[in-house]
Amino acid sequence: MEFALPVRTPLEQPRFLPMTREEMEALGWNELDVLLVSGDAYVDHPSFGIPLLGRYLVAHGYRTGIIAQPAWNGQQAVAALRVMGRPRLLAGLGAGALDSMLAHYTAFLKRRHDDAYTPGGKTGARPNRAVIVYANLLRQAFPGLPLAAGGIEASLRRAVHYDFWSDSLRRPLLFDAPLDAIIYGMGEHALLEIVRRLDALLEIVGDGGYTPDVAAGFGVWEGIRGTARLEKKAERREGAVYLPSYDEILADPAALLKASVVMERECHNARHALVQDCGGREVVMEPPSALLTTEEMDALYALPFTRQSHPSYKEPIPAEGMIATSITSHRGCGGGCSFCTLALHQGRCIASRSEASILDEARRLAGMKGFSGSISDIGGP
Ligand code: SF4
Repeated sequence: MEFALPVRTPLEQPRFLPMTREEMEALGWNELDVLLVSGDAYVDHPSFGIPLLGRYLVAHGYRTGIIAQPAWNGQQAVAALRVMGRPRLLAGLGAGALDSMLAHYTAFLKRRHDDAYTPGGKTGARPNRAVIVYANLLRQAFPGLPLAAGGIEASLRRAVHYDFWSDSLRRPLLFDAPLDAIIYGMGEHALLEIVRRLDALLEIVGDGGYTPDVAAGFGVWEGIRGTARLEKKAERREGAVYLPSYDEILADPAALLKASVVMERECHNARHALVQDCGGREVVMEPPSALLTTEEMDALYALPFTRQSHPSYKEPIPAEGMIATSITSHRGCGGGCSFCTLALHQGRCIASRSEASILDEARRLAGMKGFSGSISDIGGP
């Protein structure tokens, strides 16, 4: 079904996105439209995906809050996700800037002693395989709420993959995490499309009218570029490219290489959906999202990020210092190095900001309290 997608009036950008009910109410928000859950602490900087997407949604009229590094075991785990109530449209989640296993273990499988994305650099603030854990907790906290995951962990585990940490081939993450969709790659367009579709759907069926069957009837999750979803096995999907199945890769691991080459090619060409069979169900990966235009990039990076950690933190977050004076000039890389997965996430085409936008940010940085006189880097995120 075609949706008449709502275009909402941009909301005023708060100094920080809310993390508590008191902060929501101070903004005059009685509920959230979208809740974003992150495996990293909340640093309000455009290098961090969840704050970037949160401000992007606010700029498109959606009240968005963040829960960062929620308790994930014990009695409080579900309650920790309910502090701002049930969001009206969607919960989104991400493991953080790194895959949670890489954040926690060295290449020699030793537990790391520090975590740059956590106050005080302490470890243990996020679970192993965080997307799976957070998705299950969100399902318990908000039964029936639409749920989507993005970020590097979800994105790069969207198809059958080799998991270094367990030395095994794992099925796509959608088999282990109870998600409606994975948003892969850079998520602005896909996330906004999902939120607008859900908004449009509730206009029709009313608040509380969402069920998976209703959503399926309206095709809410279908055809959104930059997303992957789990489907019952269908007759051949017209125009789709079929990857080697899970069983074929188990039987011949070289088929994983073939699948990776096809995924990289289709990520670059952005022409076809990809389908991968796993034991009678299949993952459908729509073609990647369109790149943000220069105007969209400029508008995004002009949002009023404080470039600071949320004031509730008592200890410094090491990553905050690393990127304090970093400027993102572009996304994507044409390099194609064989050891690098950037092409499977951001793609090989470059999306750039304008020179004027980058210079504006440099001037804003230079005017900030404590600016030391140098900008640490200008490059990709
Ligand atoms: S980002 Fe990846 S593909 Fe690009 S130059 Fe660096 S290592 Fe190579």
